[in-house]
Amino acid sequence: MNHIAVAVDGPAGAGKSSVSKAVAKDLGIVYIDTGAMYRCAALFAIKNGIDAKRDPQSLISRLDEINIDIKNNADGQRVFLNGADVTDEIRTPEVSVGASDVAVIKEVRRKLVAMQRAMAKSESVIMDGRDICEYVLPDAEVKIFLTASVEARALRRYKELIEKGVDCDFEKIKADIEYRDHNDSTRAESPLKRAKDAVLADTSDLTFDESAALVKRIIKEKIQED
Ligand code: C5P
Repeated sequence: MNHIAVAVDGPAGAGKSSVSKAVAKDLGIVYIDTGAMYRCAALFAIKNGIDAKRDPQSLISRLDEINIDIKNNADGQRVFLNGADVTDEIRTPEVSVGASDVAVIKEVRRKLVAMQRAMAKSESVIMDGRDICEYVLPDAEVKIFLTASVEARALRRYKELIEKGVDCDFEKIKADIEYRDHNDSTRAESPLKRAKDAVLADTSDLTFDESAALVKRIIKEKIQED
């Protein structure tokens, strides 16, 4: 396959990460989880006692201290913040909400977007996030908007956390998702919305395998068209 970029946007919990990861493996390209990068910035803020929502300036002044590494190996993807493996730590509900708060800060976005573009330049990728189709990779060969209803997304997150042994409450997860949807789609900087040229993939009634098959089909059809 020639060098390609597949851009996948969508709201929290739509299955973007798990579907993109499976598709990347199948197509032999690299998966880049941009949400994990915003989560790292949020974890950095939490660990350093910075309230990014009330005092964004404190985080902005320390952006140079945030070093993020995403390593893909046979066991999947590991995320490192300043050398420490934070793959699991960035998945807590506290970090999820924190990520949505740091993501409204323009300086944070600028730093992470520069890293994301550099990654997509060096190899074929499938990159997921909120602003990938229109802003990070506007020239991507394939653009997909992957979504699902709030209920379906909350239920998936709930099951995922329960499986991992994380104590959680369905209504709280649903409220967090609604909070993040609102934050992500109303912020001034790169709000979440479907790009005009992105193919819509609604996975509300699809299983994981069906969602992955749908995304693969969209990619193959797009590549054949060009
Ligand atoms: O995708 P995930 O749920 O892990 O992303 C966490 C948060 O990071 C999102 O709620 C969103 O606020 C932010 N994000 C973003 N732009 C991206 C990826 C994630 O604003 N490209």
